Order: sequence, then C-alpha cells, then structure tokens
Amino acid sequence: MAANRIRLKIDLSGSTGEEAWRALRHYDEIDEAHYGPAFGSSGECGHPAGQPHAPGEWMGAQVELPSPIIAQYAIRHYVKQPRVLDAEVEE
Ligand SMILES: [Zn+2]
Repeated sequence: MAANRIRLKIDLSGSTGEEAWRALRHYDEIDEAHYGPAFGSSGECGHPAGQPHAPGEWMGAQVELPSPIIAQYAIRHYVKQPRVLDAEVEE
C-alpha cells in the first residue's frame, strides 16, 4: 500500500470537458497528478462531448506526493475545494 498516493473524486456537474480538473489548485509538493476514468468515474457521459456535464457526474484522479505525511497535508488542501467531493489515501 502506497500511503503517499491519494485519490480524488471530482465533481463535474455543470463544467465542460476537463475544465473542473484544470481549475483544481494542486498542492505545492506533488510529484505527479493523473486524471481519468482509470481512477473511477460515474460512467460514460450521456450528453454530447462539449456540452456541460450533468448533475451527479464525477471523475477520479490520483495525486502522488513525496511522503505519507505530505499526503495527509495534501488531502486537507484538496477537500477544501468545492469541486472535490472526496480525497483519501489510496488503498
Ligand atoms: Zn459528462
């Protein structure tokens, strides 16, 4: 188990494409950040690409930090942001 990796659940409702992900403010000390359905999602979009996501749509992301303690600080940083539904250490 890599306690230096965290998973984020990002609320997409009303945003378009990867807008919500791009607007996320990252923690200063991240090593890597990845976004996409490989990290969980609410499923395929039922609307045309380019149209805003529907209420309830979400997408997962993974952020890698240099150490488990920094990961804990990063979780606190991410959960404060309105688009972040959940942030937890990856299991
Ligand atoms: Zn969508």
